[in-house]
Amino acid sequence: MKALGNSFFITRREVPKDEKIPGAKLLIQSGMVYKNDSGIYTYLPFGLRVVKNISDIIREEMTRINAEEVLMPSLVNSDIFKCSSRLDIFDNETFTLKDKNDKELTLCPTHEELFTVLAKNKIQSYKDLHFSLFQISNKFRDEYHPEYGLIRKKEFYMADAYSFDANDGGLDISYDKMFQVFRHVFNRIGIDTMVVNASADDMNGLSSEEFQVVSEYGDNEVVKCTTCSFTQNREDVVCKNYNSIDNVKLKTMELIKTPNVKTIKEVSDFLECEPNKVIKSLIIKVDDKYKMVLLRGESELNVLKLRKLLKTRFIEIPSEQELERIGTFAGYVGPINSTMEIIADTEVKYMMNAICGANKKNYHYKNVIPGRDFRVNRYADLKLFDENCICPKCKGKCEIIKGIEVGHIYKIGDSYSQDYGLKYTDETNQIGYVHMGSYGIGIDRCIGTIVEQNHDERGIIWPIAIAPYKVAIVIANVNDEESYRFAFDLGRKLDEVGLEPLIDDRKDSIGVKFADMDLIGIPIRVTIGNSFKEGKVEIKLRDEDNLNYVNTSEVINSIQNIIESKKQYR
Ligand SMILES: [Zn+2]
Repeated sequence: MKALGNSFFITRREVPKDEKIPGAKLLIQSGMVYKNDSGIYTYLPFGLRVVKNISDIIREEMTRINAEEVLMPSLVNSDIFKCSSRLDIFDNETFTLKDKNDKELTLCPTHEELFTVLAKNKIQSYKDLHFSLFQISNKFRDEYHPEYGLIRKKEFYMADAYSFDANDGGLDISYDKMFQVFRHVFNRIGIDTMVVNASADDMNGLSSEEFQVVSEYGDNEVVKCTTCSFTQNREDVVCKNYNSIDNVKLKTMELIKTPNVKTIKEVSDFLECEPNKVIKSLIIKVDDKYKMVLLRGESELNVLKLRKLLKTRFIEIPSEQELERIGTFAGYVGPINSTMEIIADTEVKYMMNAICGANKKNYHYKNVIPGRDFRVNRYADLKLFDENCICPKCKGKCEIIKGIEVGHIYKIGDSYSQDYGLKYTDETNQIGYVHMGSYGIGIDRCIGTIVEQNHDERGIIWPIAIAPYKVAIVIANVNDEESYRFAFDLGRKLDEVGLEPLIDDRKDSIGVKFADMDLIGIPIRVTIGNSFKEGKVEIKLRDEDNLNYVNTSEVINSIQNIIESKKQYR
């Protein structure tokens, strides 16, 4: 049992001003965490117990499928990322530093590379497969916008697992097992997730799914069909085009003066037309070659689709000066007479009598027809799914909702194995590459999300499985020796049945104690108050309003029954 008197217990009534969302404010007010800096937090004793409870559930579920735990370093030699070029992909989001000998080190944003290299120590033959490893540790990311409390941290706590199999069939089985582990974990810790189809970022086209929680504070966008079951990450949704060419009179192309008119909006306002009559022309640079990308005026470029199409991880956007060097101007870029490769979104094909930049300052062309007035080397689906797009599965209407990604599982396949030489010999002495899967749960994100989903005006309402303490015993009058003795006696008995309780033995008023217990969200409150003289104590659940009076001899039984009834999964 844990007595509150003389403990490091901090709650505050004033609302922190530097947090934007209710859950993040409550985590600080309830003394679960202390904010050191933007995106950097300390877990205080109560918050740390929540972290441990979630970690224990993850360990239990991982162990069930025979995944073994290791602990990797967070500070590593940057060279390990060279083969996968992933530091370039994480771009400016990685923390790197130098040691005394000028060696470059990285605070790991991810651990796939280290696990691939580690597995080489074990794997030689097919007999060494299959196995799975996991760890629960810190990772680092230099977030552009660390905000929303624990949801987007710079140093974050994650459980990440990796499976190693001889072939696709083995990987499929490992993936399915991990999928179930994730399902069970989220169930047990009390998070409602939706499984969102996603494509792994590395162009191998293998399956990848995200566990997302619907939340207005999410930084992920999910497309959900209102008619069928289609759910996918917005970046991955195919925009199917059902346009047809209208029976319009094709006009002759014309150069027009458009002084200081640059953006799509400025052009359409100036020419009094729909923004979608304007062709959006972008110049990109891939492997030192310039290419032009065309989209309909209001469409947004989906960079992921473009990267996959061009089979590249890096796309550069030239500066204004660079554009001038190659004979065009920002705001006036267009495909007419361009010698570059031109890639257009499929919608552009249907733009008749359109408007585009003239590669000349203060000029545009109007009445432009694709194919007639300019060449398109290839058409492809390049646009980011928007509200005007329809479900690629059933053509129904879709909504775009925000989600917090709390878990992500994906089939890596053999790409890292090829990069790092993770091979084995099979039954016929042939060399094969190991097929890997990668699986991650963001523990801080889970906590941030749970509090966001489970609170009221008085404080946090922890799901019982992860609450810092399941039971709080509140002594109304600590000067009453009998109450005091009974509370600690009950505490010891609860310890014996594995339900370590919190005992509020502080000298504060009962009002302060109740307010604190509500704020920190302990699911079951047992109060030793006025009715104690009649042999009863008061039991109140954090998520219910009514009080129950229970005979002192039956308290433990009642508590056990409540906990049993709240178990979500075993
Ligand atoms: Zn649909």
